[in-house]
Amino acid sequence: MIAVIRGDITKVHADAIVNAANSSLLGGGGVDGAIHRAGGPEILEDCRKIIARQGGCKTGKAVITTAGRLPAKYVIHTVGPVWNGGSTNERDRLKDCYHNSLALALANDCRSIAFPNISTGIYGYPKEEAAIIAVGTVKDFLSDHPVLEVIFVSFDDASEQLLRAALKTD
Ligand code: ADP
Repeated sequence: MIAVIRGDITKVHADAIVNAANSSLLGGGGVDGAIHRAGGPEILEDCRKIIARQGGCKTGKAVITTAGRLPAKYVIHTVGPVWNGGSTNERDRLKDCYHNSLALALANDCRSIAFPNISTGIYGYPKEEAAIIAVGTVKDFLSDHPVLEVIFVSFDDASEQLLRAALKTD
């Protein structure tokens, strides 16, 4: 099942919420900053353990931590591509973000996962194309794993409408 809502992802009661992180995993602006602020220091402590083990997270990959004091059980941190005009495999990397986050949620027995609009803020990915990729990748995954519930959480009206349109036409 796929739902589209507008709001603050830090308030969503899903088994996992996804963070649009950067490769340092040390926090940043946008949704990343909001998640660390609302979830508290435990999330960064887990991130530091991952950094010690594997040195951050590459674009398109995903890692999982506690959600600290957020209502979710886990935060899945994925690193979206920086938009560079479309010539540096941004589309494939954005697909990877959704696919790897969904796979990691399943591997951790999650039944519900909430996504922000990865890469469409500071990283500058065109919102319409990002919405089409998000919906397409999630639909593909759910056709094999229908047990997962996916919630797209948009912060702004335009992103919400683009996701709804992509869901209708896909
Ligand atoms: P990126 O660096 O991947 O572009 P950003 O955090 O800058 O990540 O933006 C990703 C999307 O998350 C943007 O559409 C932004 O409006 C949205 N966003 C920012 N804060 C929140 C929040 N608290 N809940 C949900 N979405 C958010």
